[in-house]
Amino acid sequence: MNTDLHTPSSSPAPLEEFLRDYAEVTGGMWDEVEPQVYDLMLPGREAAGEPEMVRLVFDPEAIPEHPGAQLATYGTPLIDRLLADAVNRGRHLELYLTGLNLAPQGVEDRLRRAVTLPTGFALKVERARPLHFPQAVFWFEATFVSDQKEQDLLTVAIDVHYGRQVRHLDRLLDRSHLAEKPWTPLAEASHPGLASAYPIARDRVVRTLSALANTYYRELHERLDRQLERIGRYYADLRAEVEEQAKKARHRDEDPARFTARLEALTREEHLRAAELRRKSQLKVHLRLLNLLVIHQPKLLLRTVVTASASGSVIGRLEWVWDPLVEAIEAAVCPECHRPTFAFEVTRQGRLVCPACAQAASPPARPSRR
Ligand SMILES: [Zn+2]
Repeated sequence: MNTDLHTPSSSPAPLEEFLRDYAEVTGGMWDEVEPQVYDLMLPGREAAGEPEMVRLVFDPEAIPEHPGAQLATYGTPLIDRLLADAVNRGRHLELYLTGLNLAPQGVEDRLRRAVTLPTGFALKVERARPLHFPQAVFWFEATFVSDQKEQDLLTVAIDVHYGRQVRHLDRLLDRSHLAEKPWTPLAEASHPGLASAYPIARDRVVRTLSALANTYYRELHERLDRQLERIGRYYADLRAEVEEQAKKARHRDEDPARFTARLEALTREEHLRAAELRRKSQLKVHLRLLNLLVIHQPKLLLRTVVTASASGSVIGRLEWVWDPLVEAIEAAVCPECHRPTFAFEVTRQGRLVCPACAQAASPPARPSRR
């Protein structure tokens, strides 16, 4: 492809992009010393503070070559501090979702209908507790630069508790339900921290971005083809004129050499203009985080117990979440593979796992090779 299109595979990882963005936005500087090795200059933490210099390495194997460098990865104090600071920089707003029914009728029935358990096992709700579940809404600005500049705003919401994308953005962002204070104070549901939602959001946005970039790329090339055709016609006309003059000159027995030179010059000029046009028609895509809104949404955390129907003995406990905004049970997490699931099976060891993990735990008997 004759293009500079930054596809997800060739673009830096989200954390690398974040650090570049962060340095630029905060008035610092970054320098890519070699692939995945950066020198970062960050402005002082206080107004009069000394700037901070740090070498960051994204590949753990490159650490020995750069003594004194820090490994840039989620969860390290430096990265966590920068992520937290980015969030605090005024592009961040917190609101509460209000007006939801936190004592709905028949939640236990809804849960039983939503969940699949093997026969002979039953699910019972032990406790339903309303909690605030943070929903992080990220606004990214995508800029497509080629012969023209266009921008798109991409929004993605992540439920921080589960680290899953929220599909019902319109309902989540319905202003009539958003307030600066909660209706009732609620404890916050456990979650791995806001910073954990950023790479997930970024990953989702990059997928959308690739689709958009392909559309821009196609339009750009249609435009380029039309312009190249116009240039081709223009120079063909000019050459025809010169050839006509050359013909007349030959009739008058004049030397046609200067017309030949003129024709060659026209061909060179045409090639230059076409190359220039192609160069201007490369597509570059820039993505940056514009805003972050955290919506604290009340949901019901349902603690359930799974028992063997015959003996009544407890097999295990599962947590479920009832989302009163969309009036639906959210998929639970398989304790083994951490994937969302509505179906559980009981392994021979008596563990509650998703069907895929149950299959992996006790694979079907294979004929012996001997
Ligand atoms: Zn599983």
